[in-house]
Amino acid sequence: MNSAPPQTILIAPMGDFDSRLLSAVGREIERVFHAPVSVRPLLDDWSFAFDAGREQFHSTPILRRLADAAPLGVFKILALADVDLFIPILTHVYGEAQLGGKACIVSTYRLNAGSGIHCFSETTLARVTKEAVHELGHTFDLRHCPDPACVMHYCRSEADVDRKSSDLCRYCRVMLDDALR
Ligand SMILES: [Zn+2]
Ligand SMILES: [Zn+2]
Repeated sequence: MNSAPPQTILIAPMGDFDSRLLSAVGREIERVFHAPVSVRPLLDDWSFAFDAGREQFHSTPILRRLADAAPLGVFKILALADVDLFIPILTHVYGEAQLGGKACIVSTYRLNAGSGIHCFSETTLARVTKEAVHELGHTFDLRHCPDPACVMHYCRSEADVDRKSSDLCRYCRVMLDDALR
């Protein structure tokens, strides 16, 4: 057998995304996770996750579909959505991840408040890349970090996201390096 271990991180856009955003997220992921990134949509319909009462999308079933659709050679999937996401115990989420699993998702809906999908500001780009790294970190089994500057810090507001860095603290970095080994 001559099969290389599966190692690509796939960015799966759900809808049309600015290529600037996709490449910014891709670069950050490669920098933090030291893994090659490819971009390819996996789902063409996510209406199954729509909750008509809340007029939002439940992220958990989307994660299951994504994990089921993982192509060969892809070990982690980050979906990027522009719809408002929720999990039942919260009014909304910026994203969700399968802890120690394969799939995670980030939505630009709240992080991009005020600007349209085709005119992301630098602030939005920074927020989305931080939350993308954060959710992917969960798929490598990283938990929430008490350090407010660490990218694994749990953020309740956009201001919290703006305040944290796009890097892991030393403790989380060691945990990630162990997971990547
Ligand atoms: Zn989190
Ligand atoms: Zn940390």
